[in-house]
Amino acid sequence: MASIYDERPWLALYDDEDPATLTPEFGDALALFRHTRDRVPDRVALTYFDGRVTYGELDRLSDGLARYLAENKFGGGDRLAVYLQNVPQFVIALLAGWKLGGIVVPLNPMYRSHELSTILADAQPSAIVSSEVGWHDVMAEAARAAGVHTAVTTSELDLQTRHDSRLFARTERSPASDAVDLLEVARARQDRSPAEVTIAPSDIALLTYTSGTSGVPKGATNTHGNVSFNAQGFQRRAGDQDGAGIIALAPLFHITGMVCQLGAAFALGGRLDLAYRFEPGVVLDALAEHRPYYMIGPSTAYMALMNHPDVTAEHFASLELVYSGGAPLPSAVVETFRDRFGHYIRNGYGLTETTATATSVPSHLEAPVDESSGTLSVGIPTFDTVLRIADEDGADLPVGEVGEIVIEGPMVVPAYWNKPTETERGIPRGRLHTGDVGFMDSRGWFYVVDRKKDMISASGYKVWPREVEDVLYSHPAVREAAVVGVPDPYRGETVRAYVGLGDGRSATASELIDHCKQQLAAYKYPRRVEIVEELPKTTTGKILRRQLRDRAAEEQGAE
Ligand code: AMP
Repeated sequence: MASIYDERPWLALYDDEDPATLTPEFGDALALFRHTRDRVPDRVALTYFDGRVTYGELDRLSDGLARYLAENKFGGGDRLAVYLQNVPQFVIALLAGWKLGGIVVPLNPMYRSHELSTILADAQPSAIVSSEVGWHDVMAEAARAAGVHTAVTTSELDLQTRHDSRLFARTERSPASDAVDLLEVARARQDRSPAEVTIAPSDIALLTYTSGTSGVPKGATNTHGNVSFNAQGFQRRAGDQDGAGIIALAPLFHITGMVCQLGAAFALGGRLDLAYRFEPGVVLDALAEHRPYYMIGPSTAYMALMNHPDVTAEHFASLELVYSGGAPLPSAVVETFRDRFGHYIRNGYGLTETTATATSVPSHLEAPVDESSGTLSVGIPTFDTVLRIADEDGADLPVGEVGEIVIEGPMVVPAYWNKPTETERGIPRGRLHTGDVGFMDSRGWFYVVDRKKDMISASGYKVWPREVEDVLYSHPAVREAAVVGVPDPYRGETVRAYVGLGDGRSATASELIDHCKQQLAAYKYPRRVEIVEELPKTTTGKILRRQLRDRAAEEQGAE
């Protein structure tokens, strides 16, 4: 008889202490926080430069904000958009939304008007928490257009005393007249808890916007059960290290930062050391000052830290667990990091739709490298999770064969927000079709070798050509546009556009770059635009991206 190890060979790689044996104790993400708050209310939950916030303070401030939101008719199932960097107010807003049974919609603070209006129109939040600067720059207008009725802003300089000129060019406070101040309304109400609501594991905790496999922004409905499960997986991986310090260098608006950093801190009763945003010098300072136990970030973050002129082994000396995820991790980076700093980086793989981690390298093992391709394994499926390699028709492929990675497990989102057709196509019967291409070896280790579609990964940030092309097409002189990724030694890839102009029209490359810059986050606009007569196409009129990618790589090489 076939044993379960034939189908899931990776089970033999687990050891007794692994998440293999994990039965999650808590079914919802708020319960994880509440358990810790009851157990260690005076423990520091967050550090932010030289500021500190305890679990008890987080609880009281989020109670106060929840009261304010409830007074403004925010209730169960309503959406609360959060437009902030890694600041304590992010966590206060998140908890306040959850305490009312609300759904939190984290927005990348780099998003500009184009991205914000698309997402707000889809998520339809009734309340927004924004930085003051972001509110004045773009959010006030986007929120008004989307019909948001409650606006709360906050100065990101609050809750710290030390000013860091690398991060904050503008220090003047400019409270918005059309919004209330977060800390003011929260402090005024912090001694009154909101009415307690019951949360089910199937309730949606987060709507995290991702372009998924098709390029159209979609809200992944990460449930409380999804978030809580993966947060507790990390707790187990950290050896249940009570009160461990975690450096938050990945952004909280992204699922990895949210679950593997913040969720893990709640589960461990840990201390999260917030790096305002990823800025190598700031992260190194935070490492030196707070001496955390655990770190996770995309491979590009490790490359940036390793290349910083001030880095020493001492910066990483306090770390016991070092993880990477969210972008391909070259084995050379793992080896160099180990040689120089004495730490082995454990790879992990997942998507927004898998609420961060779906595979990781168990803490008692090191990931193998595939001999023929030199690819480092992304690890083995986490507890109760099954990865398959599927052919074009969705049928399982045997060991060693390359196909699309399909994932099912307790962290896979049940659906995309308000998108039944996309859900049926992308997550049929709870099986997530990732759009990533890879294979499994005979022992059950998985390898990601390519991306099925055309996603560009710039410093770990995902850029979907179609979105940038849409913006290019909005320029009156542009007739046709195609966007591709070009290999880049520092960012992994950078964005390049090929553009054909309309008859009798003129535009310079720098005009077109500026046009994109105004509407898109900084990591998305093309670094270079090539104006061409005609884009290469198939006979059916489809743009031949592969040809453009090859051309771009050649041009890059010739530079
Ligand atoms: P996101 O939804 O932003 O987290 O992006 C998910 C995508 O990042 C996946 O579909 C992969 O293409 C890529 N990715 C994540 N982790 C890894 C990894 N360890 N190695 C290679 N690619 C990865």
